[in-house]
Amino acid sequence: MTHFTANSPHARDIASVLHPQTNARKHRETGPTIMTHAEGIFVHDDAGNAFLDAGAGLWCASLGYSNERLAKVAYEAMKTLGYYQIFRHASHGPAIDLSEKLLSIAPVPMSKVLLQCSGSEANDSAVKLVWYHWHAQGKPEKRKIISRRGSYHGSTCVAISLTAKPEYQTGFGLPFDGFLYTDCPDYYRTALPGETEEDFSQRLADKLEALILAEGPETVAAFWCDPVQGGAGALPPPRDYFQKIQAVLRKYDILMVADEVICGFGRTGHMWGCQAYGMEPDMISCAKALSAAMQPISAVLLNERIYQSVLQQSDKYGAFIHGYTYAGHPVAASVALETLKIYEEIGMIGHVRSVEPVFLRELGALRDHPLVGDFTGIGLIGGLELVRDKATRENWPAEIGLGARVDAHARRNGLILRIVGNRIAFSPPLIITADEIRELARRLRATLNAVHHEVS
Ligand code: PLP
Repeated sequence: MTHFTANSPHARDIASVLHPQTNARKHRETGPTIMTHAEGIFVHDDAGNAFLDAGAGLWCASLGYSNERLAKVAYEAMKTLGYYQIFRHASHGPAIDLSEKLLSIAPVPMSKVLLQCSGSEANDSAVKLVWYHWHAQGKPEKRKIISRRGSYHGSTCVAISLTAKPEYQTGFGLPFDGFLYTDCPDYYRTALPGETEEDFSQRLADKLEALILAEGPETVAAFWCDPVQGGAGALPPPRDYFQKIQAVLRKYDILMVADEVICGFGRTGHMWGCQAYGMEPDMISCAKALSAAMQPISAVLLNERIYQSVLQQSDKYGAFIHGYTYAGHPVAASVALETLKIYEEIGMIGHVRSVEPVFLRELGALRDHPLVGDFTGIGLIGGLELVRDKATRENWPAEIGLGARVDAHARRNGLILRIVGNRIAFSPPLIITADEIRELARRLRATLNAVHHEVS
């Protein structure tokens, strides 16, 4: 099966670990890349290689991969109250402090915070809240949820149903019924010849309206969207997109849920992606940079309208019957709170804004590369479009295995890339410096040169 020495960490990994999002058969041959430690934004493997991970792990390690101050906070929290639940009227300081803090920085007025453990759980719970709300309003038939093709919203059964990517669903017999998909706002790939961004956005809003009318507005409960669409390869929206979409949602009284799991906490150069694009959601799911990825924690922020429905249902059912053992975990909440303090102290948003021009310029400069069709981004998130033919925007045929080639050469160049379809998605740690961005671009160009040489 493998060439690894018996009892080596690689052999033991193959024998014992089922890896998420990993080709199980290939893993038996390749084994794992075992990371051992980190320095700033560089991670080191057990073979002595240091990598600049241009995706901050899974879009999340905002402060890099180690942090003394957060470690101390976690240690103190474990000594003081290492666990308590927040079910049935119980509470504790970290859950209260964190909820209060999140409400104080919310992009639009929010009423309450539901603490969870992961982005998937946050979205899953927000779907339940949407359904709960419409039940409370006496409209149980208002149940369908619309998301955008190409989006990723998590891995629970409901979050995968929101995730409009067939390859994530078919092997599991998902999605559940009642999850509908509308167009991905991919201007580069799907705009009509000569169509402006505004016209493109209007066309997509019209198509959304047509879908709602075809389904019956009285059956459509909510629209799910991440400000920059991560699952589509870190795709920023075209101009006026969310304004035009929101107008349609308001017309038919459809809730808007913003998935800020990637964009929240500075990624776009704003505290929230919603602020970058003038979005006014009814609920927000967030995670990842909330705790700088140092603890598994997420949150749903809900507005007063939804909260009033929860109140009403408590009168009817005796309680809001939903919850996870680790929801509001005091250690995770303490680390999240400290993370938000660190962001304020180091001026995280100001830093992202100050390096944004370098990020956009350095990666944008790769538009001149023969393999690159386009680059779009905001703050410290962006995507680079890989093409075979710049003029026709034709893709490389699947049998060329372009993504795997890019990945392999990147690793040889000390770079970890997130390749999503035809795009390379960038979301480096938020603490990345201008010099490190230049280094990222240098390694990327070397990678693309090597791949181009190989395939042409
Ligand atoms: N939503 C978005 C936009 C994401 O990118 C992700 C994960 O990458 C999730 C939700 C799911 O978060 P988690 O992996 O913490 O469950």
